[in-house]
Amino acid sequence: MRITVRFMNEIYYDNSATTKVSEKALHAACRAMREDFGNPSSAHAKGVSAYHALNEARSVFAGYLNVASDELYFSSCGTESNNMIILGAAKAAGKQGKILISAVEHPSVYESARHLASLGYQVELIPVDRQGIIDMTALEQMLDTHTILVSIMHVNNETGAIQPLKQAGALIRAICPQALFHVDAVQSFGRIPLFLAAWQADAVSMSGHKIHAPKGVGLLWLKKTRNIPALIWGGGQERGFRSGTENMSGIMAFTVAAEECYTQMDQNYAVIVNVRGKFLDDLRKAQVDFHLNGPQDEQAAAHILNLSFPGIRSEVMLHSLEAKGVYVSAGSACTSMSTKGSRILTAMGLPSGRIDCALRFSFSRYNTVDEATIAAAAVVDTVLELHGILNSRKGKKTK
Ligand code: PLP
Repeated sequence: MRITVRFMNEIYYDNSATTKVSEKALHAACRAMREDFGNPSSAHAKGVSAYHALNEARSVFAGYLNVASDELYFSSCGTESNNMIILGAAKAAGKQGKILISAVEHPSVYESARHLASLGYQVELIPVDRQGIIDMTALEQMLDTHTILVSIMHVNNETGAIQPLKQAGALIRAICPQALFHVDAVQSFGRIPLFLAAWQADAVSMSGHKIHAPKGVGLLWLKKTRNIPALIWGGGQERGFRSGTENMSGIMAFTVAAEECYTQMDQNYAVIVNVRGKFLDDLRKAQVDFHLNGPQDEQAAAHILNLSFPGIRSEVMLHSLEAKGVYVSAGSACTSMSTKGSRILTAMGLPSGRIDCALRFSFSRYNTVDEATIAAAAVVDTVLELHGILNSRKGKKTK
């Protein structure tokens, strides 16, 4: 049995990696596992009731996204939703088309596209500026009538940068109306509004565990007019597009979690803005040396903050903060075990010294302003401690 270390005052600032399951979502999951545990494909009453619950869940999401229920498919996670579209669209079009993805996509898009490139597909990366925002002029030049798929994320998982999807969608529709426009909204769904119609998007990926539902449930919106082959074959669940018995407890929890996000989106966002503001204010007041990586204004989603503390490597800072009970991330969770510098910050053209020292602080509605005071103090202490140690080492070397 593993023992979990827990600090008295644990401060969780890694909400872009995953979030705590909300009480209501937990309750919904337990109910679906213990009482309403039928298989929606079973013909008896217990199955029929699960089938109805599944349809109701789908219509809740359809309402929030302003789309038709039969354009929504439950999956196991954001990664699966992204793969369904990237690989499915490529398969549908064959190798004669071009695939464009932004240079700052999550690995679930980037690696799927790299896999397609290894199979002979023409895959190109849309460059970004120093804030991590896609270069619209480059996009315009890259798009042509051979383009079959364009995938651009909504909110970047490392920097919080919000991509100008409305402008991108307008360009795509003007130059290559046939291309499928996919948006990875895993970091934005439930946190800030999505504008599927204004983006002129065809497909959008979402994930439960980023919004206080359990891990193991995702969602994909695919416009009815788009036909993409399935990647998973079997019993024909999800209207044949994603076979496999539906994760009913996950879906019920995800639905409740989405309701909690959508009914209080402004309040939740205000909490996060205050927490971020207090945290940054305290760092500035303490005159700690740091750089903010990514946009600072309305082009950034407030729940993700990427900072570099010059001279202190990310992993050293991460573990020093961990020792004080503050959990943060060096880059995204999916790449934090890697020793390579962030692909995202590299694509933004940041110097390697800044990339090696980057930390991601990501907030949720469960964080408080009081916590922000403690976390900022922990960061300030850590910076002073580590600079003290580093300076004394330097001093010894020069003697
Ligand atoms: N897309 C983005 C932008 C993400 O941040 C993540 C996870 O961090 C994913 C996709 C993958 O989602 P999941 O963890 O549900 O597979």
